[in-house]
Amino acid sequence: MGRKDISERIIVQKYGGSSLSNSDKIQKIAQSIIKKKNTGDLLVIVVSAMGNSTDELVKLANVVTGNKSSSPREMDVLLSTGELVSSALMSMVLNSNNCAAVSLNGIQAGIHTDLTHGSARISNIKTDRIISEIKKDKVVIIAGFQGFSEGGDITTLGRGGSDTSAVALAIALRAKRCEIYTDVEGIYTTDPRLENSARKIKEINFNEMLEMASLGAKMNPRSIELASLNNMPIYVSSTFSESDGTLIHGGKNMEDINPITGIAVEHNVSKVSVIGIEDKPGVAAGLLKPLSDQGISVDVIVQNSSVNGNTDFTFTISESDLNKATELIKTQKTVIFNKIVTGVGLSKVSLVGTGMQNSPGYAAKMFKILSNENVNIDMITTSEIRITVIIKSSFVEVAVKNLHKAFDLDKLN
Ligand code: ASP
Ligand code: MG
Repeated sequence: MGRKDISERIIVQKYGGSSLSNSDKIQKIAQSIIKKKNTGDLLVIVVSAMGNSTDELVKLANVVTGNKSSSPREMDVLLSTGELVSSALMSMVLNSNNCAAVSLNGIQAGIHTDLTHGSARISNIKTDRIISEIKKDKVVIIAGFQGFSEGGDITTLGRGGSDTSAVALAIALRAKRCEIYTDVEGIYTTDPRLENSARKIKEINFNEMLEMASLGAKMNPRSIELASLNNMPIYVSSTFSESDGTLIHGGKNMEDINPITGIAVEHNVSKVSVIGIEDKPGVAAGLLKPLSDQGISVDVIVQNSSVNGNTDFTFTISESDLNKATELIKTQKTVIFNKIVTGVGLSKVSLVGTGMQNSPGYAAKMFKILSNENVNIDMITTSEIRITVIIKSSFVEVAVKNLHKAFDLDKLN
């Protein structure tokens, strides 16, 4: 087999922690891997840690240190073990079923990263070992979520990082596609818990998926960005169900019957308004720099046009960052202001769809639907393929229901 013939047959499959939470599940997955292998595919399997075992390891670290923060290097050594357990077990089960398999950790799989322990980024993957195992006709089981730095230390990619491992491996191996198996069946038009007519989306493009990452199958946005940059299609599906999942790819959805793909919802949003600031250069930077220095990400930002040289500046952040953010703004020295007003109990509702691009009228229609239901809009922001409103959380259900219906998202296509 030449390298190209191999690539054309490789499929990378990733199994999430909830799909691997006990031995029955591991055995079931092994059976479906064997079935797939018998069709002639060359399989590279990326596994997460079993169930909640990564959380358990975090707790264990807290217990032994008495909640003192541990060295990031040792924390990565510890957390990387969760994935080792599942990779070894999966390989054992396959071998005991006469399917040749081998487990590889991040180092053996050649996954090079930078040195940022706890949130390392993959710099490149040297695939020689993986390819040589594939040539021996083995199913290669790779521990997700980990790699190693230039100095040879184990690193982890950040919580939920094994999606990124899988996509990066698929790209490095020039695989046909990357398949993510999880406990939900795919990506939905909106959160099925909010709206029971939410339906599974067959295909979605990368940009839409990035806007919708909060829906249904929670894919790590970093893995979608990576797939998008390298045009690697991702198929998201349920591990234990036969029904079709969602294909995320680079294709255009412009010709879709539905110009709107879905409604994304984010809860626990709060807002900060800084009232009565002088309208001059450097104000926005002066207010937001202290927050970014502390790793607080600011989302929707609105600045009013000024009256008599004075203006108001409002932004949203996640509720858990609110106290810290207001404190930072009060103590910063660059911007003089009159007062700070905060608001909690807010949510973000976004209409997402590539088909909205260059077609006016969607925003007006959205606002009309909300006003018909007496939903007051707090803030508005848009991108080319998204219209977002910030509203009171108590309005979310009625907003989603009515938007879902008015934009025909409940109709099958
Ligand atoms: N086991 C790791 C975590 O729980 C990585 C992953 O599941 O993707 O964050
Ligand atoms: Mg996980």
